[in-house]
Amino acid sequence: MKVSVRPSARSYILSYKPYNSFAIAQTQFDGVAEILGLDAPTRDLLRQPMREYSFAIPIRLDDGSTQVFRGFRIQHNDARGPSKGGIRFHPQETQDTVRALAMWMTWKCAVVDLPLGGAKGGVICDPHNLSEREQEAICRGWVRQMVRNVGPQGDVPAPDVMTNAQHMLWMLDEYEHITGSKAPGFITGKPVTSGGSFGRTEATGYGVIFTVREALKELNVRASDTTASVQGFGNVAQYAIRLYEQLGGTTVCVSCWDQADQTSYAYQKKDGVNVDELLTATDRFGGIDQGKAKDLGYRVLPGEDWLKQEVDILIPAAMENQIVEENVHDISDRVKIIAEGANGPTTTEADAVLRRRNVVVIPDFLANAGGVTCSYFEQVQGNMNYYWSKDEVLGKLDSKMTAGFIAVSDLARARTLYLRDAAYVIAIDRVARACRDRGWI
Ligand code: NAD
Repeated sequence: MKVSVRPSARSYILSYKPYNSFAIAQTQFDGVAEILGLDAPTRDLLRQPMREYSFAIPIRLDDGSTQVFRGFRIQHNDARGPSKGGIRFHPQETQDTVRALAMWMTWKCAVVDLPLGGAKGGVICDPHNLSEREQEAICRGWVRQMVRNVGPQGDVPAPDVMTNAQHMLWMLDEYEHITGSKAPGFITGKPVTSGGSFGRTEATGYGVIFTVREALKELNVRASDTTASVQGFGNVAQYAIRLYEQLGGTTVCVSCWDQADQTSYAYQKKDGVNVDELLTATDRFGGIDQGKAKDLGYRVLPGEDWLKQEVDILIPAAMENQIVEENVHDISDRVKIIAEGANGPTTTEADAVLRRRNVVVIPDFLANAGGVTCSYFEQVQGNMNYYWSKDEVLGKLDSKMTAGFIAVSDLARARTLYLRDAAYVIAIDRVARACRDRGWI
């Protein structure tokens, strides 16, 4: 039987557009290297990953045949500490996507000042077409290939698109089996009942809103006087909407992928989207049942309409390359803040337009750093084999995210920089210094 391990919010197939994320990541790096005046060896070191692993994972399928899957692990830079980054299962995974994501992990860890480097992993596969046993075999095969080059002190994996806590537990089990040790700090994103951290589920969405809260303070605007529109209704989006509501804000629109129609729809409710209410209308793929949503008072609109709303805040929290040259002009003049919950939701061309319009764009690697921050906490707790309460974790998360935002915002003001550039300047400068201090360059 073919079953998905988590037939929920991740059951959509990401429609990758023909953008090369690594080229985008390198272009962003080159711009900041100019601002920082980095020398040629530093640029050469940082615009490429330090180490790349590409390997075969042969798996015996349930029907008795054998299929060879391709796996990756790319360690972009570990000057500041053990590398950290998720493992993505995706049919359109490419080595370049993994390279880009690994580089962004380096900057993400550095901007919130975690003592970590950046890495990313992947396997080209579609979990929708694999049984649980086959997925378990891929997880164990990935660890068998990488066991000498990952570990609690060197490189700590985590979940990403289409991987979840169960996958992490299979990977931990294989790692501990091979190394003959107990090593809960080897991998993060584990179930809370097996060494996972409280607060991880909330961490990314809450982190987005901690940065939005700080941005609103700087604009001297009360959250209760604002409205937001959110792309996506998965983990990041749901917890962002919840915390924003607790701060007094009103989310008037969310959009979601529709697996049956292979397109997205936006769900608008002017008096406020309620996560628990809308969750009662989700279908078995984690999408939203349109009939039920209408019964709950939601207007169903074309998917792109999430971005056309007359709101103060936009939160893209679905996938990459969503705010593009073709739709950036649909964004209302009222929008003051765009908080990038997703990784890479804005293309370079669209970003240039937002920059000219003076929109406060809280860049992805700062806005969504709550996930890796909490993963770092899980890693620390695992290495100590001691666990903090949810309040402790969320309190530490708030401190880290707030300090990260304020440092970026202060620099942006002091040097008249766009927020994304200021975040990159802080992150890249920290990593470059670590490389220099170690005598690498
Ligand atoms: P998820 O799979 O839980 O949810 C994704 C949501 O996006 C789903 O509701 C899906 O229906 C929706 N979606 C997909 N394509 C869409 C489209 N074209 N239009 C509208 N909605 C669409 O994923 P997630 O964990 O919430 O992650 C969302 C984004 O945030 C990704 O870019 C991910 O890389 C990034 N991110 C996640 C975390 C984390 O901790 N979960 C951390 C950092 C970054």
